[in-house]
Amino acid sequence: MNIAKNIYNLPKFIKNFSEEEKNLFNRIYTFYIKTGKLKVPDKIKPWIDKKFKNCEAQKIIRITNKITFESTLFNELRAKRPIDVKVSEDLNEIIEKSKKDPFCNPFEETPSDVFGRVEGRHCVTASNIAKYDYLHAVIIFKDHNPLTEDAKKIKDYLEVALKWFEKANKFDKKATYPFFMWNCLWRAGASLIHGHAQILISEEPYGKQKFYTQIRETYKLSYGSEYFEDIYKIHKSLGLAFTYQKTKIMVHITPVKEKEILLFSSDFLELAEPISLILKIYYQLGVRSFNLAIFMPPLNSEDIFFTRIVDRGDLSNRTSDIGGMELYAGTSVVATDPFVLAEEIKKFLK
Ligand SMILES: [Zn+2]
Repeated sequence: MNIAKNIYNLPKFIKNFSEEEKNLFNRIYTFYIKTGKLKVPDKIKPWIDKKFKNCEAQKIIRITNKITFESTLFNELRAKRPIDVKVSEDLNEIIEKSKKDPFCNPFEETPSDVFGRVEGRHCVTASNIAKYDYLHAVIIFKDHNPLTEDAKKIKDYLEVALKWFEKANKFDKKATYPFFMWNCLWRAGASLIHGHAQILISEEPYGKQKFYTQIRETYKLSYGSEYFEDIYKIHKSLGLAFTYQKTKIMVHITPVKEKEILLFSSDFLELAEPISLILKIYYQLGVRSFNLAIFMPPLNSEDIFFTRIVDRGDLSNRTSDIGGMELYAGTSVVATDPFVLAEEIKKFLK
């Protein structure tokens, strides 16, 4: 049976699951599909009809992860639109005009860490001038334009990050919990346009890292399996998960925001190619501002490297993509249908 690939057909996909697949899905996820209704007064009807077809009945699907309480709302009115690939025409000009910033001249215009810099072929570290935490550096890309997709360059950023983690750990032996983060352009929180990523290492893991470690431990105790592998299996059954080289890629059914993609790898440097692939797909889909984070095991230990990448929306839009629902309700409002996004990824994997 050919089921149209959209999130509202989730019940149909699950109906086709084996007993084992159904049990696994129901262990971790729950969802509802409801219709939100409203009445449109005549005065605004022509305008409303133009903007939204049939807005008087809006199909909503809410999916919740019962283990992590990650929860996402999709509204058919938003999600059924094709992916918006519009990019602000003046972005190239903005990037060009922002050249000659301190990151274009990092050795003279950015501070170094007290234990020195790490330099690669395509990037160099600087000490963050206003630190989030006590060991916090910036990986300054040699390219001013932040929209990198070159796997070789990304691998170099990762190699430099690893060397910096080791160097920072030598300087402060207690600091063993690394974190890699890449905020691209202002919607993602980057204060400078020039391409850069950020690296931190601390004696205590960050909150979300701790959260996932605990989730995985309790899950293993309760069910005897690896939580990340089980959510991957569910996404695979839904046609939302793929492998690329040795990395597992999945389009999240409870995305934190637009087009969220998760990657699982047992090696940090092996992430370069899959990250490059995802960025190529992102750029093709009009994404220009994104957050990427790599959750890493403590230094010198082996475990899963868990990467999350999310689209932060149109750079010309003054409305933030994140509001009270995301910050406080813990339930994200998302437009992009994961099934539609997965089809885009498949085109690149062929
Ligand atoms: Zn620059």
